[in-house]
Amino acid sequence: ITLFFFFVLYHLCSKLQKNIFNLSQLNHQPGKPTVAQVKRLVSQVNRERLWYSHLRPILTERQPGSRGSQAVRKHIFSKLDSLSAGWSVEVDSFISETPHGPVSFSNVLAVLDPMAPRRLLLACHYDSKFIPSDPSDPQKVFVGASDSAVPCAMMLELVTALDPHLKKHKQVTLQLVFFDGGEAFEQWSQTDSLYGSRHLADSMSRIPHPPGSEQSTLLNAVDLLVLLDLIGAPDPMFVNHFENTARWFDRLVAAEKRLHNLGLLSSHPKEQTYFMKDINMGPVEDDHIPFLQRGVPVLHIIATPFPSFLHTLDDTADKVHSHTVENLTKVLVVFLAEYLRL
Ligand SMILES: [Zn+2]
Repeated sequence: ITLFFFFVLYHLCSKLQKNIFNLSQLNHQPGKPTVAQVKRLVSQVNRERLWYSHLRPILTERQPGSRGSQAVRKHIFSKLDSLSAGWSVEVDSFISETPHGPVSFSNVLAVLDPMAPRRLLLACHYDSKFIPSDPSDPQKVFVGASDSAVPCAMMLELVTALDPHLKKHKQVTLQLVFFDGGEAFEQWSQTDSLYGSRHLADSMSRIPHPPGSEQSTLLNAVDLLVLLDLIGAPDPMFVNHFENTARWFDRLVAAEKRLHNLGLLSSHPKEQTYFMKDINMGPVEDDHIPFLQRGVPVLHIIATPFPSFLHTLDDTADKVHSHTVENLTKVLVVFLAEYLRL
């Protein structure tokens, strides 16, 4: 009976703790930037820089463990290094069994204030899928522009545009995650996919946070995971996937409308073009799953229906609509400024 009692008590405590954690997320109030602030923030987004300085070096084959993968990591390090906000960057490397034998994977993690009580995670996967080239055109390789070179470049542009505002440490800090091994080597399955995100969610659930804590972990400190995927094709649609983060999806809808009405978006015909709250496209398996399963609130920003060229050699830069990417980056600038109260 005693043992049983302790068992019940233990579960009650962990439940209680989970609720406290969720409450802090629910109570988080976004800031309200003025029109002048919005104009200033958004004017920092630079389409040329996004395209040439951030995106172009990622448009290469970058399968886990490859030289291309290493080159893309170097590119991410050097971009983050050139900023003044003071990013702590680390590589989370591990080896996992795959249908192609053991492979070395490396997630890239960058956080502004490792000691902050709470974190907003902004993530995408940087690996490219194994897609054989066409024997008639062996020079043409799979570069996964929308999947997910563009989201990675958008993340770099976001932190570059917001750099002067990110220096001051806050209660909620920003962490960037560039997942490795998002793609399956062969057929998508529980074991052949999401290598990097499964590894990171597991390791964050074992790291005490604040350091030395016996009750809470780094994973408990994650307020919200914002995952970007399949972005770049013209006329994308993004829908809300989770009820518990619907109010954050509403912020995206509001930011798109606000920027449209201020005349700050280009090639943007209607005030609500991208973010559609009341359409249900069903869930999509992606790098958020290992976090979702552990109770982390998720905002999944993925184009649905998927781009027509998904997982084909045609997922290339010339299919990417640069104005759409710029507009979405501006919407996310406003979202981050509100969330982080910049
Ligand atoms: Zn993919």
